[in-house]
Amino acid sequence: MINHLAREQNWQTQLNTAVTDPVELLNLLKLPLSLLNSTAFDGGKFGLRVPRPFIERMQAGNARDPLLLQVLPLHSEQAQTVHYSVDPLGEQAANTLPGILHKYHSRLLLTITGACAVNCRYCFRRHFPYQDNIPHNDDWPRMAAYIEQHSAINEVILSGGDPLAVSNRRLAQWIERLETLPQLTTLRIHSRLPIVIPARLDDELLQLLTQTRLNVVLVVHANHPQELDAETKRALKHAVDAGILVLNQTVLLAGINDHADTLAALSHALFDCRVLPYYLHVLDKVQGAAHFDIPEQRVIELYTQLLTQLSGYLVPRLVREIAGQPFKVPLDLGIYTAATSDDSLQLHEA
Ligand SMILES: *Cc1c(COP(=O)(O)O)cnc(C)c1O
Ligand code: SF4
Repeated sequence: MINHLAREQNWQTQLNTAVTDPVELLNLLKLPLSLLNSTAFDGGKFGLRVPRPFIERMQAGNARDPLLLQVLPLHSEQAQTVHYSVDPLGEQAANTLPGILHKYHSRLLLTITGACAVNCRYCFRRHFPYQDNIPHNDDWPRMAAYIEQHSAINEVILSGGDPLAVSNRRLAQWIERLETLPQLTTLRIHSRLPIVIPARLDDELLQLLTQTRLNVVLVVHANHPQELDAETKRALKHAVDAGILVLNQTVLLAGINDHADTLAALSHALFDCRVLPYYLHVLDKVQGAAHFDIPEQRVIELYTQLLTQLSGYLVPRLVREIAGQPFKVPLDLGIYTAATSDDSLQLHEA
């Protein structure tokens, strides 16, 4: 028990001592402060935030480090870009009750906190009004009634923010509530915390997730193989060994993971800890993230290379979110298959 407590304090300390000052981050990475001439000090409501265990995986002296670029606010974020919106997915309309985001038939998102361990610069939720949207304890009866009125819902996805930013005790409370609804079979958790602070996967949490009557799916979020250092792999493997289904989702990001070799290495690193790739998301067109975008033809070319390189079960599904669509929409590769069949012939000859 003392051990559990120590570890819990450990992850909470790591959460609370995340770096929020760009000068400190650049100092830690031995990067020149002159870089700040081209970066925005004031990230506004969505400033720099990055936990130290994640910084330790960045390469000192490398201004183009793929982990650094995911978290460092740049002036390019200030650009106003046509066709980029503050609510690209029409989430405000799907926000039927505080905390509930119901867009798909059989499952809904429950946003139980607005907090994240890390502020990812490409995040489509950067403009979302979290504060008005976090459910209070006395909201639960109305939320339960909503789920009961929608009998097709069998899965609730805890989301945020990052749902693992809340304490185990608070999480247990939500799980107990959800367990009382017989229509629910599955609890899903979408979280980046196990990647940026692997100590978050403590024994108490794993116990919570293995003792519930609900099927549990943990979907983590890593974009680059360098994010999976030894400690992170150990923590993920620990969760898998405990019997939890762990999947990963990735966002395609220009300058970070827009090479088939990088994505293939990510799939292999995940599989080293028996985590399977789930989704590869095309960037949502959110204001401030246009510099991460990749032209569609390049996306398809890249994905086709990935299909060629990887065993089928290591290939994530390439999808895009389109406002108003009842699922995440797979990209159409059809027109490119003719071009790639030549490559596979060459493989046979080699
Ligand atoms: C992504 C998402 C889900 C989950 O979709 P799956 O395809 O089942 O992973 C559910 N609700 C909302 C609002 C989502 O954005
Ligand atoms: S952890 Fe997830 S929700 Fe939070 S900023 Fe990053 S991508 Fe967005």
